[in-house]
Amino acid sequence: MLGLYIHIPFCKAICTYCDFAKEVASSDKQDAYLNALNKEFEYYQDALKNVKTIYIGGGTPSALSDIQLNTLFTIINTYVNTKNVIEYTIEANPNDITLAKANLFKKNGINRVSLGVQTFNEKILKVLNRKHVNEDVYNGLKLLQDAAIHNINIDLIFNLPYQSIDNVKEDLKAATQLPITHISYYSLIVEENTKLYYDIQNKKLTLNDEDIEGEMYETIIDTLTSTHFDQYEISNYAKKGYQSKHNLVYWKNEDYIGIGAGSHGKYLNERYYNTRSVKYYIENVLKTNHGKASRYPYEPLRDTMLMGLRLTEGVNLKEIKDRFDIELLQAYPKLEDYIKEGLLELSNHYLRFTRKGILIGNIIFSLF
Ligand code: SF4
Repeated sequence: MLGLYIHIPFCKAICTYCDFAKEVASSDKQDAYLNALNKEFEYYQDALKNVKTIYIGGGTPSALSDIQLNTLFTIINTYVNTKNVIEYTIEANPNDITLAKANLFKKNGINRVSLGVQTFNEKILKVLNRKHVNEDVYNGLKLLQDAAIHNINIDLIFNLPYQSIDNVKEDLKAATQLPITHISYYSLIVEENTKLYYDIQNKKLTLNDEDIEGEMYETIIDTLTSTHFDQYEISNYAKKGYQSKHNLVYWKNEDYIGIGAGSHGKYLNERYYNTRSVKYYIENVLKTNHGKASRYPYEPLRDTMLMGLRLTEGVNLKEIKDRFDIELLQAYPKLEDYIKEGLLELSNHYLRFTRKGILIGNIIFSLF
């Protein structure tokens, strides 16, 4: 399985919590970016013949005009045989969806759309500087259905400013009534250099404590798993048969090519990170044909454990032994302690988090 991630770093407005590579840019700059993307596709042209999953993320890919999206799809179709692609996702903001865009997606082989909903609480959406309202979500879903796109994820966030456990329950109620197949539900991370971080530092906003965050997370797991959304990863839930194949490429530590500013890839025994700035990305690609700003050797055991433990099925220690010639529990004796403390469990050779362990995953991840 080889994945392809394409980053579109443009947004119509900037959300208060966002640390992704993104900017509000002129249409000319967006066109120059697409031109640079084309060159970077050319750089990876041999590898791209084997791509099986595509994910167009951002930023906000749907912030591009229909003409620009057409250009993007033409580039992709030039280098990738999309007939061999088993999952082809594009991210969209609910208020960007029109029937013309939905049809454009469908016509170009998109078979999965990921909508940035974040919460159904319109007051909190305003605090986050999100520009959609709930009506946009319902309309957007209807238009996608009309265009015969039925595999739909929504992104939600919990532990938001002003959010109570009751608010999370309301979000869950709204989400589980939608015609969707997948939910990505992340806890808010307050990143430096965001307006949210600044407002918290200046005591304009406060966040819930860790106990409430933990209670929200448990409420989410309980509610979603009892409404046919199986938890298959720390923050991801899917109806039967709808686990994200592209994201599984990351979690199963397979190769993927990242194209565009702020993207990263893992290919041919190295991890690489592209420059985040759109301006420098365009300059770099024009000079070197790629956007790589840094490269690191791939660390197979570490990466396999860090990624694999995110999955609820866990990591198969027999496979680890065969692949790396290592008895993991002997190499990392602390793991036995975590098993005794009920934070990890070992069953049928799979090492995985327990419910108690998943809440403090970072301590266990730090072992690797
Ligand atoms: S969260 Fe998404 S829409 Fe908001 S600024 Fe970041 S990339 Fe843009």
